Amino acid sequence: MKFNTKVIHAGIEPDPTTGAIMTPIFQTSTYVQASPGNHKGFEYARSQNPTRSALEKNLSALENGYDAICFASGLAAMDAILKLLSPGDEVVATNDLYGGSYRLMTKVFGNYGINFRFVELEDAGSIRDHITDKTKMVWIETPTNPMLNIIDIKAVCEAVKGNDLYVVVDNTFASPYLQNPINLGADIVMHSATKYLGGHSDVVHGAVIVKTEELADKLHFIQNAVGAVPGPQDCFLVLRGIKTLHLRVQRACENARKIADFLLTNEKVENVYYPGFEDNPNHEVAKRQMKDFGGMVSFDLKEDTIDAANAILSKTHYFSLAESLGGVESLIGHPSTMTHASIPREERLKVGLTDSLIRLSVGVEDVEDLISDLKAALG
Ligand SMILES: *Cc1c(COP(=O)(O)O)cnc(C)c1O
Repeated sequence: MKFNTKVIHAGIEPDPTTGAIMTPIFQTSTYVQASPGNHKGFEYARSQNPTRSALEKNLSALENGYDAICFASGLAAMDAILKLLSPGDEVVATNDLYGGSYRLMTKVFGNYGINFRFVELEDAGSIRDHITDKTKMVWIETPTNPMLNIIDIKAVCEAVKGNDLYVVVDNTFASPYLQNPINLGADIVMHSATKYLGGHSDVVHGAVIVKTEELADKLHFIQNAVGAVPGPQDCFLVLRGIKTLHLRVQRACENARKIADFLLTNEKVENVYYPGFEDNPNHEVAKRQMKDFGGMVSFDLKEDTIDAANAILSKTHYFSLAESLGGVESLIGHPSTMTHASIPREERLKVGLTDSLIRLSVGVEDVEDLISDLKAALG
């Protein structure tokens, strides 16, 4: 089955009791047994729920995995993955991670004896310098946020081959439509389904897709034992969102390219960060591992001040000022005062995250309207 067919059909069967074409929302906490242990595969809804199972089958197919396991949020999914580790284990992670991921690693798992190293991985081979016999996990996020750098997933996987560790990719920014890390050698893929998978800014949800039965068994065990499961209504919303994933992401990519081109020509703009530009240092890797260059664009201003950025942030009409990304509606954000405010300014500046840097999550509106909106705000 090809991708655009999978989003609609993989794991989805008409409901056997009614023929309902849409997967029903099984809003139940338990299931009746004919006699003790004699049931239809469902005992208690923390352990199994048919709406969740349909979504897990669908996600597994989208990422070419062995299985998928769903959680109440992206961070709950990440929490389950990190629980594969034991005290004394080390994780090597890319250095410009989603802020919440960094917080979960350092402020929560750091207290349980897991050690984290945050490293720059634009030269994928350099990861070998950071691997010790205690390293049990490599954590990659690509494209990165908000600088939209690209990490070469295949090259990282090849560089660590032979070591007893899992390679995990947070695939939230790309979505399975653009990038499938398991095909490139990763063991585990994580998604904040709150973003492109859900796609309509109406649900918080997380997913893990794994390459092997062994990992599936371990993560289903953690899912049931810890209990951070999503409700059936949320699973339904993600299932429904996924049905148009290919259309939404394709249009977001088309719009993002036109907006990036427009920003380049604007006299107030200093740098435009977009991996689709041929002279972007990450362009070749992006072209190799992604189907298109994504719906995110960042830029900063010649007048590099928070005030100059604020003047634009408060003037856009269709770009709403908000955190999050990946929905049908366009969003605008200011990393240095919003998502990345907890990172010291010197650290931010080192990676190019200037005071005036603005991040766009480009939606699926008419691109002419989006460009006029930015033009007026910059004007
Ligand atoms: C939003 C996000 C998360 C966290 O997901 P939640 O659903 O908000 O818990 C993790 N990684 C990335 C890249 C994200 O954008």
